Amino acid sequence: MGYKFLNLASSLRVGGFRIATRQYATAHDADIVVIGSGPGGYVAAIKAAQLGMKVVSVEKEPSLGGTCLNVGCIPSKALLHNSHLYHQAKHDFKNRGINISDISFDFKKMMDYKANAVKGLTGGIAMLFQKNKVQLVRGVGTIVAPNKVEVKGENGVETVNTKNILIATGSEVTPFPGVTFDEKQIITSTGALALTEVPKKMLVIGAGVIGLELGSVYQRLGADVTAIEFLNSIGGVGIDGEVGKTLQKVLSKQGMNFKLGTKVLGVRKEGSIVKVDVEAAKGGNKETLECDVVLISIGRRPYTKDLGLDKVGIALDDRGRVPVNDKFQTTVPGIYAIGDVIHGPMLAHKAEDEGIVCVEGIKGLPVHFNYDAIPSVIYTSPEVGWVGKSEEDLKKEGKAYKVGKFPFLANSRAKTNGETDGFVKVLSDKATDVILGTHIIGPGAGELVNEAVLAQEYGAAAEDVARVCHAHPTCAEALREANLAAYAGKPINF
Ligand SMILES: Cc1cc2nc3c(=O)[nH]c(=O)nc-3n(C[C@H](O)[C@H](O)[C@H](O)COP(=O)(O)OP(=O)(O)OC[C@H]3O[C@@H](n4cnc5c(N)ncnc54)[C@H](O)[C@@H]3O)c2cc1C
Repeated sequence: MGYKFLNLASSLRVGGFRIATRQYATAHDADIVVIGSGPGGYVAAIKAAQLGMKVVSVEKEPSLGGTCLNVGCIPSKALLHNSHLYHQAKHDFKNRGINISDISFDFKKMMDYKANAVKGLTGGIAMLFQKNKVQLVRGVGTIVAPNKVEVKGENGVETVNTKNILIATGSEVTPFPGVTFDEKQIITSTGALALTEVPKKMLVIGAGVIGLELGSVYQRLGADVTAIEFLNSIGGVGIDGEVGKTLQKVLSKQGMNFKLGTKVLGVRKEGSIVKVDVEAAKGGNKETLECDVVLISIGRRPYTKDLGLDKVGIALDDRGRVPVNDKFQTTVPGIYAIGDVIHGPMLAHKAEDEGIVCVEGIKGLPVHFNYDAIPSVIYTSPEVGWVGKSEEDLKKEGKAYKVGKFPFLANSRAKTNGETDGFVKVLSDKATDVILGTHIIGPGAGELVNEAVLAQEYGAAAEDVARVCHAHPTCAEALREANLAAYAGKPINF
């Protein structure tokens, strides 16, 4: 049966764009149904359409873009950027000869700015769907058979018959045992992106990427922030130990407090105060901390609710993820999965890239995905960016490696800009000089790391990067110098 697009009379407005919708109770054929329109799903849908497939995207939320665009990467970066500008204006401009009196902020306007950034980008997906002829079906998608997806929407149930199904349903906040989130005082990251006022005292449970980023936002805006972490280090999985320690030092200097090696026993509300019971992770004296708002950011878990995986015989792994092979195929032929719902780091760019190679694979193209070359970034100030192995990883593996380090204090651009905290550290194979990992803490680390990713993806040696001409004066020269230090033993400018 042919696939039918509807005329505009039955279309829907999303973010200012008109999207063709499908009428209730009609069955359609598709080459692929992508369930979930987060960065993994929407990118896969567009790529599949560009490869000539008839694509149906299914999304249960009113706004496209998933966690990343609605309650993740994008709103958090809007708040991080603007709170950084405010903090800089208040605490740093004077040193640079810029005098402004009466510096203050309008929190509602900052939140409105964030909402507009989200609206613009989610609306952009609707436009891209239209441009690429991706058909959007709104509602909860359930796989009822290997070639059939049912979508429960406002208007009832629709059925889409399809050759392939791609699961891109993402993740949700990991609950904290015994705690109910009210999203006002006991909040998840989603609540932290929607507060109506800056708390006086904020506790952040979990000093991983999300906790540090959102803690930074409120600390810059005047909250007294303490991050509580079970481990004795901050920054989450994969961060190099030396970078983590430096980050902690710099954030402490900015005013953020840390309580490491601390276990949270419980969270409760007493009147208008939130009480958090803690004890040393090793055991010991118990203590009760108080705050106005507690942000619980202990991680995310795969989201597979209502997907109907049991109906088609797909069993989840021990961490609730959909198991896939290296072509992103599940155990059922024709059903694939990508993004936060499968193995690997929960990152938007990882989901996007998996989506692209997965649909290329469906079209018979080669599938290549290098999990050693996925960058991680923490958007604090300074930023942290890394790719590949940390020193701790290499020690554990017993690998012989060289270290090349270069501090931003000796980089002309960083020094000129007065942003000298941090360094670049390159780890390369002792015998072959091939780069194994790059770790950056410093100005623009989130941008700089992409050069390191390119080098690592192409199997570059430290000498290769060191011999590439870099523009002067730029912070990227610090990356070059660290590679020079790794391969030749010494940088030039330090
Ligand atoms: C506060 C925060 C900040 C973050 N910052 C960053 C960052 O800076 N950089 C980065 O790389 N990552 C960041 N992340 C992580 C990033 O958001 C995720 O890794 C990414 O969104 C995963 O993409 P995905 O497509 O796999 O799933 P998601 O983005 O979670 O999208 C899944 C979509 O599927 C839909 N869905 C689920 N089930 C169904 C169903 N049955 N039927 C229909 N629709 C369904 C959901 O409604 C959702 O829209 C952040 C996350 C958070 C929470």
